[in-house]
Amino acid sequence: EAKRLGRGRHARFHGALEASARYRRLIETDLRDAIARRELALHYQPIVRAEDGETVGYEALLRWHHPVRGLIPPLDFVPVAEETGMIDAIGAFVLNEACREASRWGSGRRVAVNLSPAQFRNPALAAEVAAALDASGLPADRLELEITESVLLDASSNNLTTLGRLRRLGARIALDDFGTGYSSLSYLCAFRFDKIKIDRAFIRGICDSREALAVVRAITGLGRSLGIVVTAEGIETQEQAACLRQEGCTQFQGYLYGKPVPASALAEVSAQPRAGTGS
Ligand code: C2E
Ligand code: MG
Ligand code: MG
Ligand code: MG
Repeated sequence: EAKRLGRGRHARFHGALEASARYRRLIETDLRDAIARRELALHYQPIVRAEDGETVGYEALLRWHHPVRGLIPPLDFVPVAEETGMIDAIGAFVLNEACREASRWGSGRRVAVNLSPAQFRNPALAAEVAAALDASGLPADRLELEITESVLLDASSNNLTTLGRLRRLGARIALDDFGTGYSSLSYLCAFRFDKIKIDRAFIRGICDSREALAVVRAITGLGRSLGIVVTAEGIETQEQAACLRQEGCTQFQGYLYGKPVPASALAEVSAQPRAGTGS
């Protein structure tokens, strides 16, 4: 009996693996055409000032509207894009689209764009960012580039050189998902970031876990000492916001303030007619 159950479990496990390998192949095949078919789009999530709730910018988050499978989240296809090299084309799309969209915002709010560590293998990355700024007319200081620690973990100092180039363009550089992964404080010495984003994992527990609170307190303290902005990600409740305000977090982001929505749902564009459309 136990043996039969064991086999059943094994068969199920095997089935799941097979299904996921099939899913991955499907993603890889269909992703090749996704840009040309205009299936990729950006959604925008507000980032607000902790003090008064004023929106200071939006994070651009990639979405794939698959014709059959519906909405596919970035964590399902960005890793595939990274492994196959498609991330360069997709990353260029994201940069151009985000800069073009933000250039229409009369409010002057910033747009934050996620850069994958794999994009740093592209020696033309900084040139592509410059081209996206140029083509859109977006002032560089309204573009914030979010990177993760793994960009600095990669021993090649090329990445640091590229980061320096991006900074010299005038873009702001944020350290995303801080506190997870390989977190080492030495990264904060290797490069002067404009912002640290505390990972959602710590925000989730901040009200009931002493450990999570301690980590958040340490990070906000670092931010204060270094004179850089600290954003908390993934805030869902007023209680979390109250705790984070008390800890001196400067910016908030999370479903409590707004989920990611298509550009058309933002109230940013109406005030300013688009230049050059001639209507
Ligand atoms: P991230 O950059 O840390 O983005 C924050 C993620 O948390 C987003 O998930 C966002 O929708 C989600 N989130 C925000 N507030 C809340 C909340 O209150 N509760 C919960 N449960 N979740 C919240 P999303 O859009 O699925 O993106 C996941 C990750 O995919 C991003 O994490 C980022 O690492 C990556 N990603 C997204 N767009 C891009 C892109 O254009 N390029 C690259 N390279 N990576 C991207
Ligand atoms: Mg991010
Ligand atoms: Mg994050
Ligand atoms: Mg993340």
